[in-house]
Amino acid sequence: MDELLGISDFSARCGLSVKMLRTYAARGVVVPAAVDASSGYRYYAAGQLHDARVVALLRQAGVPVRDIAAFIGRPEQEQLDRWARQLDREWAGRRRALDEARAALGMVPGAAPAVDERSQERRGQQRKGGGMTCMLAAGAATHVGGRASNEDALVVSEHLYAVADGLGGLEMGDVASRLALDTLAAAVGNGSGTAELLAAGLEANDTVWRHGGKHAVAIGTTLTAFVPTEDGAAMVIHVGDSRLYRLRGNRLEQLTEDHTVTADLVRTGALRAEDVSSHPHRHVLTRALGVAPAVELDQVHVRLEAGDRFLLCTDGLYAAGLYADGDGLLQPEGPAALRDALAASAEPQACADGLVAIAVGAGTTDNATAVVIDVR
Ligand code: MG
Repeated sequence: MDELLGISDFSARCGLSVKMLRTYAARGVVVPAAVDASSGYRYYAAGQLHDARVVALLRQAGVPVRDIAAFIGRPEQEQLDRWARQLDREWAGRRRALDEARAALGMVPGAAPAVDERSQERRGQQRKGGGMTCMLAAGAATHVGGRASNEDALVVSEHLYAVADGLGGLEMGDVASRLALDTLAAAVGNGSGTAELLAAGLEANDTVWRHGGKHAVAIGTTLTAFVPTEDGAAMVIHVGDSRLYRLRGNRLEQLTEDHTVTADLVRTGALRAEDVSSHPHRHVLTRALGVAPAVELDQVHVRLEAGDRFLLCTDGLYAAGLYADGDGLLQPEGPAALRDALAASAEPQACADGLVAIAVGAGTTDNATAVVIDVR
């Protein structure tokens, strides 16, 4: 018998959401191999991942659900060719419309300032926008915690602040997290806009996914990346259960949503936040980077105010004894211990060191990583 995977695990590996898997199953596509009669839990065979990934790719190509349902049972070369021609026609039509809009505005292609000129203006970590000038200062720390190796990775640079947590239980998690951040750092380069950041995130997904395929290993990682923009704000892309918090005044707020089975249950009211820490599936991700050819990245736009302190962290930090708050989702003030530790040091490096030291001291069984960013 093929290895059986729970629906969340299967979802994370094939790139289709749990909701989509249920929709397809109802249409006779990628039907669960087994259903637990008493609990109703659905299980998929590992051998079904291939079909599910093809379905995910067709979705990414924009093929309607009803057409996929008809196609996947009996794939035909001719149908793929028809879809390819249709895509070419659609792109040509959109490109024509864009060119006509450009002509109507009397603008010519290539007149925007070159990237190099824009990056010159951004030296010294100055962010200007709406009359506001702010400077960012950052510190970072990471610790192996209770694991044999550190599969967390982090980046602190002028244009990119990020954490990634290589997936536990999968092989080469450290490779996945490092590869994702290296790809992102190279793509973001000397600064980027929202579209470029999103494209860089998708490129990181593709790089990790292909690396896993090349070495025949299942690798993946979380990713939470914070990129300052020129308008006194920051763009964040996020997937998995690492987190971004903002401390503004005395208020600690989690700005990212966890992509975990338990967070989904809390959001739908099926699980109380205080029961998360004892739930057997609290570490099961519903989304991650590099586990499938396609990934959905959350985007969060954050306005920066002088005095703000941001924390990017992995679950080994926020879930450690002292900070554990069940889930944090239902506590708008944030866990008090985390808030106090974030406010304890004036300098971001001392703050990051302190946060990680507290998590390690509390006996975190996981790698613990913190990146602290101050807006001045
Ligand atoms: Mg972790």
